[in-house]
Amino acid sequence: MSETEVIPGKDFIRRIIEEDVKEGKNQGRVVTRFPPEPNGFLHIGHAKSICLNFGIAEEYKSVCHLRFDDTDPTKEDIKYEKAIEEDVHWLGFDWQGKLFHASDYFEKMFEFACDLIKGQKAYVCALSEEEIREYRGTVTQAGKISPFAKQSVDENLKLFQRMRKGEFPNGKYVLRARIDMASPNMKMRDPLLYRIRHAHHYRTGDGWCIYPMYDYAHPISDALEGITHSICTLEFENNRELYDWVLDSISAPFPTRPHQYEFARLDLQQTVMSKRKLLQLVEGKYVNGWDDPRLPTLAGLRRRGCTPDAIRKFCELVGVAKANSSVEMAQFEFCLRDDLNTKAPRVMAVLRPLKVIIDNYEGEEELDASYWPHDIPKTGSRPITFSREIYIEQEDFLENPPKDFFRLAPGKEVRLRYGYCITCTSVEKSPTGEILAIHCTYDPQTRSGNNPVGRKVKGTIHWVSSNSLKGEVRLFNPLLLDTASDDFLTQVNPHSLVVLNDCRLEKSLEKAKGGERFQFERQGYFFVDPIDSKPGAPVFNRIVTLKDSWAKKK
Ligand code: ATP
Ligand code: MG
Repeated sequence: MSETEVIPGKDFIRRIIEEDVKEGKNQGRVVTRFPPEPNGFLHIGHAKSICLNFGIAEEYKSVCHLRFDDTDPTKEDIKYEKAIEEDVHWLGFDWQGKLFHASDYFEKMFEFACDLIKGQKAYVCALSEEEIREYRGTVTQAGKISPFAKQSVDENLKLFQRMRKGEFPNGKYVLRARIDMASPNMKMRDPLLYRIRHAHHYRTGDGWCIYPMYDYAHPISDALEGITHSICTLEFENNRELYDWVLDSISAPFPTRPHQYEFARLDLQQTVMSKRKLLQLVEGKYVNGWDDPRLPTLAGLRRRGCTPDAIRKFCELVGVAKANSSVEMAQFEFCLRDDLNTKAPRVMAVLRPLKVIIDNYEGEEELDASYWPHDIPKTGSRPITFSREIYIEQEDFLENPPKDFFRLAPGKEVRLRYGYCITCTSVEKSPTGEILAIHCTYDPQTRSGNNPVGRKVKGTIHWVSSNSLKGEVRLFNPLLLDTASDDFLTQVNPHSLVVLNDCRLEKSLEKAKGGERFQFERQGYFFVDPIDSKPGAPVFNRIVTLKDSWAKKK
């Protein structure tokens, strides 16, 4: 296909696949895989790869394998494997029973390695790690051939068998491909295929003490499973030559000859996106576990209340490109708001309450408040109680306001959402000058949006009645102060979690259940924490703030 021929709506990977299918490659089959290493929880970067691989499989009515790349027993664990499965399902994808492990193929990989040795394409090398690095040369300088490269096939086979039997300590020998120490591609300078690791593997137990390297295990796993398109991120561009070398050097008949394609990884600003760094934050107790809502892990985003739909839309919006770039957090937040706008009913909650006493009001009455704004085609409302005492947000009152402050201040009038207009008449203070409550009068003519005669009220604020419930609300700020810093642990924001214990929530929220989402008017979208909430005492996590608040803040 020519470079200029563009299939509308398709990224470059999908265009390649479309072309392959048209040409009848792999009998027109498309099989992809998502190959996480079970050494941590998945993050939003992985979601991009999941959406791409599983998305393509869906489009071609095919399947995407979930394959655990469990080749490093020192870092991997079954608990990560279970978490990864849960996350992929939560995003809305399924591997249709095609769940595999690189370790399923250890025996085959070993046999292929013996074949490579017999074909003089691999040798056992006793150089130390440091020597191997020295021998490799540099980008501008060819490497030196290892003195062990000339070892006989028999000697290599014998040593490799003994490596497997556990006769040598870690690091004593490695198996290397014999390719080209002068190759301009450093990855091709006799790369390592196997190393010795005396470690317990969470699946194979103590069955193995030699483990294949990613560059060897990955192409073989792909080929054995009949993968057609092996899609990975750009850092692996230089590994592609080795991927092809491995498959071309093994004479076994594979069901397919897969090919590797690289796309740009997702790099989201203001956060960390590497399992290694996430692990440091979790183990160092900088956060409360892998599902801490401040983390960009899928478990954290789920606990925070983000929807899988929003994450999938975000991945779609970011797109699949060939050049790396970083994406602003604002783009993710846009997707969250866009998704929640039509899903989350509107309610009122006051995060930092200030008591208001309406001196000319007696008794109480019920006002009808819609759950939805006019532009959302959904119906439903709940009663809210108007009473002599109500609560408003502390920041909605200023004793000495600037000229352009349109909320409450002494002598100023403001509209209460769904209710009356009130005017502040006096301020009640403690002996130390702290504001305890404010006194107001209300205008009975102004109920339900009726405008006061002869006056213009510019501000509308949210409020709750004295029958509201007390509740806990958790707000989240960026986890890191400076993401450019090398030592990211010194940059953890001490205010990344703000817990407000004295919030007042409108009465209807008494029935809120774990897992439900609401918009607190003017404050953002919130999620009822499914773990910490108790019946009648919901705990709310703020998913995202509102960009466009209907109340004039100034
Ligand atoms: P990390 O550094 O976070 O551990 P990784 O690449 O080592 O990332 P793997 O478990 O090996 O993690 O990744 C599984 C798949 O997810 C790989 O195909 C990888 O390319 C892809 N992936 C990982 N991070 C990203 C990202 N930020 N954007 C897109 N794809 C990613
Ligand atoms: Mg990895």
